[in-house]
Amino acid sequence: MAIATINPATGKTIKTFEEHTGDEIDRRLALAAATFADYRLTSFAQRAAWLRATADILDEDLEQVATMMTTEMGKTLVSARQEVEKCAKGCRYYAQHAEGFLADEPGDAEATGAVSAYVTYQPIGPILAVMPWNFPLWQVLRFAAPALMAGNVGLLKHASSVPQSALYIEELFERAGFPKGAFQTLLIGSQKVEAVLDDRRVVAATLTGSGPAGSSVASIAGRNIKKTVLELGGSDPFVVMPSADLVRAAEVATTARLINNGQSCINAKRFIVHEEVFDEFRDRFVDAMATKVVGDPMDEKTDVGPLASQQQLEDISALVDDAVTKGAKVLCGGQSPGGVGFFYPPTILTGVKAGMRVHLEEVFGPVATLYAVSDIDEAIELANATEFGLGANVWTNNETERARFIRDISAGMVFVDGNTTSFPELPFGGVGSSGYGRELSWHGMKEFCNAKTVWIGKGSASTTE
Ligand code: NAP
Repeated sequence: MAIATINPATGKTIKTFEEHTGDEIDRRLALAAATFADYRLTSFAQRAAWLRATADILDEDLEQVATMMTTEMGKTLVSARQEVEKCAKGCRYYAQHAEGFLADEPGDAEATGAVSAYVTYQPIGPILAVMPWNFPLWQVLRFAAPALMAGNVGLLKHASSVPQSALYIEELFERAGFPKGAFQTLLIGSQKVEAVLDDRRVVAATLTGSGPAGSSVASIAGRNIKKTVLELGGSDPFVVMPSADLVRAAEVATTARLINNGQSCINAKRFIVHEEVFDEFRDRFVDAMATKVVGDPMDEKTDVGPLASQQQLEDISALVDDAVTKGAKVLCGGQSPGGVGFFYPPTILTGVKAGMRVHLEEVFGPVATLYAVSDIDEAIELANATEFGLGANVWTNNETERARFIRDISAGMVFVDGNTTSFPELPFGGVGSSGYGRELSWHGMKEFCNAKTVWIGKGSASTTE
């Protein structure tokens, strides 16, 4: 895949980039290793100052960066601005909390016969981050901010379709004062990831992306005994029970399905509604989806911009066509308007059955599947009838039902009366084919630290007396 910016709203190639040569990659890995040797010794206060400066630059650059992201992958300008703001917030959050998160943890000295015993969290070295195009800034920053605060250094292999975002991020950290080499971009295609991950100077990897990419990176890292965190796909359920506030549920359902033009791992994708309230929810949901404005992502009135690539458009069209051919009913949308750009309208399908691809695969576009169920057992069974387990949304005002969903839905995150969202303050990640490990909060920060046990015996105390 060529490394290039292709504007999804027009289909036009804006800029192409040469991949880094083998020598350039080697130079960058050497710089990462050399920088880590000193960077690991910098203080939390110093790193926090650099990260706060990063947030300040993001505030200043907001309009320019948002425009760049919209041009590279088609998200609406309004949502691109929100993404930049979220990144600045994430940087400030880790600047404030990292030192506390990584404070030494006391161990049981008495039971182990020590004068003192504790756990200290230390950085591990250069970490490779393989990232997707859908949130070009946030996916990277939510890894980079805690990693840099922990004293690690980063190497970014971004998606080939967002090279300008990739280069901007490297420049961003340098402008903020981080040492050259603390965070570098490798302009490489996915076929070069293996050699980078095999290199002894790279100590771990994090990947956000599809299952096949995650599986490949995990197996290369595995044979090298290197730690990985995988944030992969999702097919989040959105369950609506009779006691729910249906007006609010239908409104949030629309947002939950359409965030990022329907291309987020945590979009709600399967809508599972109790039969008692099915008709009312369906009508409200269809009304809200069908009246969204699809069009130029630079226009502030647009709700849904284009899909990110021609491939995305072909994939979504093929999934819907497969379902329709096998008997699914289209309640709204269902066909690309054609013409310029990679547009696809908000779509709702009912009558979805096993054997249709949309029933089992992740639908990475603005297409919802709508199911009726007769009770909570059936709702949970359907919610769990997927290989994925990222987020889950449940709508009910019944405490017993809430407790059942929280206990029995197989997912890394359950949101009750709200839609799955990532917050710096809460851990983020999945189970099953959605991956393993966590990002964000202190959980994400500790993924790439050496939790070093320290035990100090009585002998060391006697020398001072
Ligand atoms: P993708 O094709 O897997 O690409 C993601 C990244 O992996 C890109 O940098 C890509 O490079 C690289 N890559 C692809 N194949 C690889 C391989 N065999 N070895 C090493 N690297 C490889 O995914 P995508 O289409 O960009 O993103 C959509 C997927 O990401 C969806 O499944 C979505 O759910 C998931 N996602 C998950 C989360 C989460 O937090 N759980 C968040 C966002 C997205 P190239 O661009 O050069 O191919």
